[in-house]
Amino acid sequence: MKLIIATHNPGKVKELEGMLTPLGFEVESLLDYPDAPETDETGTTFEENAALKATEAAAYFGHAVLADDSGLEVDALDGAPGVYSARFAGPEKSDEANNALLLEKLNGETNRTARFVCALCLAKPSGETLTVRGTIEGTIGYSPRGENGFGYDPLFIVPSLHKTAAELEREEKAVVSHRGQALRKLEAEIIPFMKG
Ligand code: IMP
Repeated sequence: MKLIIATHNPGKVKELEGMLTPLGFEVESLLDYPDAPETDETGTTFEENAALKATEAAAYFGHAVLADDSGLEVDALDGAPGVYSARFAGPEKSDEANNALLLEKLNGETNRTARFVCALCLAKPSGETLTVRGTIEGTIGYSPRGENGFGYDPLFIVPSLHKTAAELEREEKAVVSHRGQALRKLEAEIIPFMKG
């Protein structure tokens, strides 16, 4: 069964494809549809933004769509960058610039606790939606480590594994990550929802 993921982020596509393909889904994303409209992320929560992206794309494609809205909440920054994680250092959405700014803002800060949050929203062309949230707690390191993943992964230390998310293989990250946890909450419901 085909499932379209409403994102242009290659990191999200790789991770979600890696989780959904073994479940039997044929995954496409907005990277396959360069003319699809871009949704304005005007929501104030991960769930609102995921629902905006999923419902707009489901109406455009006339097909069920899964959207991921995710980000990093840093306790010492009162939850920032939160829903603004992608554009923390500016509209060009540079992972390197975002990580550099995060380190700068945490300079001298000893409270390094943080979490990744992922809201996944599945939407049908009718506008009906199903939304779940997954989180992973961790700490922010003092310098980037690891080559895998994307976004803030090189700075996000997974305490139980003593590694940054960028030092994990894709399959290892999927077991513990906010995205993996959200998807496992949703997986049994995807087919009944799409057929119902
Ligand atoms: P969105 O596209 O508005 O959902 O923004 C997501 C942003 O949150 C990404 O661009 C990253 O900066 C950050 N983010 C979300 N999930 C992850 C992850 O798994 N690893 C690292 N950064 C992430």
